[in-house]
Amino acid sequence: MSIETPLRSEQETTVQRKPMLEVQDLVVRYGHGRKTAAAPAAVDGVSFTIQSGETVGLVGESGSGKSTIGKAILGLQKISGGSVGFQGEDITHTTSGKRRAIGSELRAVFQDPNSSLNPRKTIGASLAEPLRVRGISAAAARTKAEDMLERVGLPREAVDRYPSQFSGGQRQRISVARALICEPKLVVCDEAVSALDLSTQAQVLNLLADLRDERGLSYLFIAHDISVVQFLAQRVVVLYRGQVMESGPAAAVTENPKHPFTQALVAASPVPRPAEQAERRAVREALGVRTASAVAAGPGGCPFRQRCPLATELCATERPALRRMGEADVACHHA
Ligand code: SF4
Repeated sequence: MSIETPLRSEQETTVQRKPMLEVQDLVVRYGHGRKTAAAPAAVDGVSFTIQSGETVGLVGESGSGKSTIGKAILGLQKISGGSVGFQGEDITHTTSGKRRAIGSELRAVFQDPNSSLNPRKTIGASLAEPLRVRGISAAAARTKAEDMLERVGLPREAVDRYPSQFSGGQRQRISVARALICEPKLVVCDEAVSALDLSTQAQVLNLLADLRDERGLSYLFIAHDISVVQFLAQRVVVLYRGQVMESGPAAAVTENPKHPFTQALVAASPVPRPAEQAERRAVREALGVRTASAVAAGPGGCPFRQRCPLATELCATERPALRRMGEADVACHHA
């Protein structure tokens, strides 16, 4: 007994410490068959972890690979290399049957709420669906749907209405309710507030934060606007053309960015105060970062070099590895 007890507690500690999500050297290439190997990587060696109850923000411009990473984690995109672990289990190439089994623990909220709501089904039917699949009775599923609607700030009677009877912000609340009704452990939010106006955005972000805190949820929060990510995330991963440019605690990355691309992202993010906006515009101009449309991507070296005002010959030949700078990891030869 005296020998077994410490052993068991050691095992429990090991289990507790396993990250909720562990993405290791993830590579995704688009294409079919042999052509896939020759295709450029949409995601190129990305690694990060999410702990239980933690929110990690994945931020980057369109085409940075952030949504592809979300899809790969959800099993909606084939993975070309690396691994994805969920609660200590390798789910990189899990079968659809196994995916269904973990489906209630790993859920998603997408930009377009209509992607998870059937216009011909009542809200109650859409919300009950994932519960009914898991064998919960129709009556219990309806009650749970009503409870969940109430929790996201909608009336219980909304169960009998159709998606078209709600505004965009309300539909996104319903999508959140649908994602959370199975009591998941991790929710991938892919541009979940991007289509909403600023005040509705703030309401949905507050709702997501409250639900995280009361349920101990983990989020992978994907967005192009770093100020939105900053509101919710404890840690931030900045992507450019499928590679991590900078990652670290949200405050360090957003308030004192080290990588030229992160600096440009922060300077470009909209703020409601005109004076601060003007200050950011001045910083953006002083940085001298070229716009995305001005240049094409080139293979090898630093993926940001064609837009970067600090680029040297080294940047064209050698891909910068992530190195620790203060609290963040930064992939830049000259930061
Ligand atoms: S490695 Fe070079 S090109 Fe890339 S961000 Fe740093 S200075 Fe700019």
